[in-house]
Amino acid sequence: MKHYQMYIDGEWCDAADGAKLESINPATGEVWATAAIAGETEVNRAVAAASRALNKGPWAEMNATQRGKLLHRLGDLIAQNSQMLGEIETIDSGKLARETRAQTGYVADYYYYFAGLADKIQGATLPIDKPDMHVYTKRVPIGVVAAVVPWNAQMFLTATKLGPALAAGNTVVLKASEMAPAPMFEFARIVDEAGFPAGVVNVITGYGEPCGRLLTSHADVARVAFTGGPETARHIVRNTAENFAVVSLELGGKSPILVFDDADIEGAVNGIIAGNFGATGQSCVAGSRVFIQSGIRKQVLEKLVERAGQICIGDPLADDTQVGPLCTREQLEHISESVDDAVREGAKLLIGGRRPEGFDSGWYYSPTILDCPHQDIRTVREEMFGPVLSALSFDTEEEAIEMANNSDFGLGSGVFTSNVARALRVSDAIHSGIVWVNTYRVISPIAPFGGFKNSGPGRESGIDTIYDYTRTKTVWINISSEPMANPFTMR
Ligand code: NAD
Repeated sequence: MKHYQMYIDGEWCDAADGAKLESINPATGEVWATAAIAGETEVNRAVAAASRALNKGPWAEMNATQRGKLLHRLGDLIAQNSQMLGEIETIDSGKLARETRAQTGYVADYYYYFAGLADKIQGATLPIDKPDMHVYTKRVPIGVVAAVVPWNAQMFLTATKLGPALAAGNTVVLKASEMAPAPMFEFARIVDEAGFPAGVVNVITGYGEPCGRLLTSHADVARVAFTGGPETARHIVRNTAENFAVVSLELGGKSPILVFDDADIEGAVNGIIAGNFGATGQSCVAGSRVFIQSGIRKQVLEKLVERAGQICIGDPLADDTQVGPLCTREQLEHISESVDDAVREGAKLLIGGRRPEGFDSGWYYSPTILDCPHQDIRTVREEMFGPVLSALSFDTEEEAIEMANNSDFGLGSGVFTSNVARALRVSDAIHSGIVWVNTYRVISPIAPFGGFKNSGPGRESGIDTIYDYTRTKTVWINISSEPMANPFTMR
């Protein structure tokens, strides 16, 4: 059986107390690897290594252009290893290989993007309102960054944090998800090969308690970059009351997709399928509340059911598989219970709602569509993180907007219409950080990603992110030919 060690200060190690976890392959339900887990000793060692690398040695002395070159090399190695990295992520998390391989290939572009930004971080000379003063600002690294990621897209969610953090000159302790840590240790191997100095990137794993708490509350951590669920985020915010770290939070969603009767139906159905069954529904931007205008409701639902019935469920490593297993047994139970509750609350099950036939092992659940008569239904209110679509209908644009905004979350949203004016009106009116019009689930390193409301305060990707990993330093220089005046002599 494969065993993964932690990567601290450029070296591979097990926990001092020998603690380790067993990682389960969701497609089989069986343990396939073990990984060392960090306790207090390892968290302290990792943060100390990151602090040393930040303040002294090759990384601290490296200029921004050299940092950019190193990040570029990391991108190249990720692209070269994308098949292997994608495969390990699939075995560990159950996410489809066709998605993990493609996503990991694209992750290289995130490092290239931030590599390019490394030497474009500029300060300013200020038009100051005082005589004889030259004042300028510099943007300097914040310090040690604790990057905490969930299991569902770790290579990608690591890139959106490490890309800007390293470009800006910070050092990092990355905590991989305890549910699927293997890909991050393979990533650490590539970081090592790229030639980052010891301590610049440290990769550990462990449970939220104590590892996540110790890391995010550590006195020498200055920045916490978190992606995960809202409940965990509340812990993170409490943890950072200890160190006043700057925090960014990328949380869950319950994104609406609105289909108006003037929409291209095929396109809308493709968007809804991508939004609900892509990544087996285990996506923070899953468009799991689908609002269909009454006149086309029957037609759209029929097409969705037909398409859901044709989905190829299977081994996530196989190229033709379209929906794979859920990541954990707990997640399977959560989905199953939620769908049962929805039916009790009045939803009509149109397809799915059970384990697919022939899949007695592994955490499989059939693509499910629920026709929901109202919004007070569990699958309409709560994030599912599985292949469960809740469909509702509306009559007017105002009603559609009101229903779409009736959620604690505000991450993504989709609008399908052929009316440009409506597309603009509705995009403005929806309370979400991202709106996709006549498309869904498209991302880029160039486009900011993040939400409103309980989807968390934080933006990743895009040019501004680089500044989220710096702080300004203001330098005042007296340029008068006279020495500084006596402060007690009024002039
Ligand atoms: P999670 O919140 O359970 O765990 C995320 C990470 O936080 C893990 O590494 C975990 O060990 C760590 N953690 C747990 N307790 C902690 C604590 N007290 N202190 C510090 N760290 C702690 O999330 P998950 O189940 O792995 O992932 C699913 C969630 O992530 C969903 O809600 C999903 O929507 C969200 N997500 C959001 C985005 C986004 O960009 N907005 C992207 C992907 C996933």
